[in-house]
Amino acid sequence: MQADPDEEDPIDRGGRNRKRRGDFDEGKPAKIEFNTDNCWFCLSNANAEKHLIVSVGKKAYAAMPKGPLTEDHVMVLSIQHVQSMAVADADLRAEIAAYRDAFALMADAADKTLVAFERNFKCSHLQLQLIPVPKTNSRALRMAFLVAAQDHKIELGVLEKDQQIWDIVEEGHPYFYAELPDGTRLLCTKMRNFPIHFGREVLASPELLDCLDKVDWKNCVLEHAKEAEVTNDLKARFKQYDIVDESDSED
Ligand SMILES: [Zn+2]
Repeated sequence: MQADPDEEDPIDRGGRNRKRRGDFDEGKPAKIEFNTDNCWFCLSNANAEKHLIVSVGKKAYAAMPKGPLTEDHVMVLSIQHVQSMAVADADLRAEIAAYRDAFALMADAADKTLVAFERNFKCSHLQLQLIPVPKTNSRALRMAFLVAAQDHKIELGVLEKDQQIWDIVEEGHPYFYAELPDGTRLLCTKMRNFPIHFGREVLASPELLDCLDKVDWKNCVLEHAKEAEVTNDLKARFKQYDIVDESDSED
């Protein structure tokens, strides 16, 4: 894990056989052949930035992203190379959901509520972003996402209660997915002209986190020492909520 999900794709992490941009909506996506040695997010990668890791489970891990929106912004990723939630197996999905719920409890204790989003677009390793938003601002969330989508002319649909992304999205197909604290789940699968920083842009808006200077993660990367400090602080605060019991972390 060397960089954040918002990084452009210098090594075409979508797979070397991926269709060119703009072709996402038509036909069957190409099969992905991917060299995980080059993946920033595979935990087995020797280049992974271990000082950003908050917790390691059996199939998933939690880490602070590069250029976090807030000091309690985390992401949950698969340990092995998995493309997205849509193709994750049931155990992995369950562990990611358990991490999400644990971070939601931590956010609640700070009078915040958790927004989750996944950008499976120009990015080839599963990562669910978890961003706490002050409860006083959370009512603005749904409208903020829908209005931003309208401004960008993006089709952001609201999922029905029993609909799951893995039932809707075809394997290899890119998408943007968000879960709001009121239970609203939003999905976009038409990625033409989709803004790469969409999720961050909505959350950084003045009525939510009010940090528009951080929309692009590259503008707010912390010094290495500060990254380690923020991660350690997160780890200490998360400890009581962590889904990993340290006493059985040996197996
Ligand atoms: Zn990977």
